[in-house]
Amino acid sequence: MPLRMVRNDITTMRVDAIVNAANESLLGGGGVDGAIHRAAGPQLLAECRTLGGCRTGQAKITGGYRLPARYVIHTVGPVWRGGRYGEKELLVSAYRTSLELAVAHDCQTVAFPLISSGVYGYPKDQALNVAVDTIVAFLQDHELTVYLVIFDRAAYTIGEKRFADIAAYLDARYTQDRQEPTSFSMASAQSVPDGLNEALAMMDESFSQMLLRKIDERGMTDVQCYKKANLDRRLFSKIRSDIHYRPSRATAMALAVALELPLDEARELLQTAGFAFSHASKSDIIVEYFIAHQNYNIFEINEALFAFDQELLGG
Ligand code: ADP
Repeated sequence: MPLRMVRNDITTMRVDAIVNAANESLLGGGGVDGAIHRAAGPQLLAECRTLGGCRTGQAKITGGYRLPARYVIHTVGPVWRGGRYGEKELLVSAYRTSLELAVAHDCQTVAFPLISSGVYGYPKDQALNVAVDTIVAFLQDHELTVYLVIFDRAAYTIGEKRFADIAAYLDARYTQDRQEPTSFSMASAQSVPDGLNEALAMMDESFSQMLLRKIDERGMTDVQCYKKANLDRRLFSKIRSDIHYRPSRATAMALAVALELPLDEARELLQTAGFAFSHASKSDIIVEYFIAHQNYNIFEINEALFAFDQELLGG
């Protein structure tokens, strides 16, 4: 099941386990570690004292005490020393061992902070890439929901260059469209009376029918498709079994991305669900930017949407 990026204080997350970016002593520290210990109360430290510390890249589990989460998984990320000292492998290992521990304790929902990206100095954009890649790889063969909790301004996390590129793309299109609202073909879809689009879509292939046909044409399996779309298996089954299923915009967009549709086909698919790519929507332009660059990585798209405070794609 999927990865969700959220902006939150991890101590408030109602999940089975939250992950703590601890230090090797496990006896508390600053940053997220301090916040977790404050929120959990002194019993957490008492249990941590019994654990005998934890090596970098490893993880240990305790109760959550006063936290809404049932467990705290304490992992130790690497201190950044320039990138040539095995930092990446250790960070991957911190995420992996935490996820394995969560599964071993039957957790279905787990929330991570961006490990090592604070006092430990790992560059935030790289820390985010490692987090997303490692979690997504793990989710390929495990059914759980993982939250990546981002505390700081997200512009830092996707890297300055990409942020600036998207901002420029957005700027050009967002303004242009407001000045010339009719210059985009999809603008016409917006001027059609309410309900007519749906009526027309019903006459043609439905969203579900077009989706399933395109999955077959691409030789994909259902699982490949919903994983690539960052969707939940149950949601996908609903779409598959109901030919008149009306997906949300975020779901429809996610599936267009998963199918790697070029822009015109993406528009066609969205239209069957009553949506258009609108240049009055920042979020649509950001997705369009990625499609135009033939980048169909939904997690990268979501990182960018997140950085611009837009709703994420997926279920
Ligand atoms: P590390 O020592 O592993 O770098 P830090 O606690 O210094 O750990 O920072 C890790 C990340 O956690 C940073 O990106 C920081 O902004 C973030 N963070 C700090 N407090 C919280 C919190 N309450 N909830 C979620 N993330 C937090």
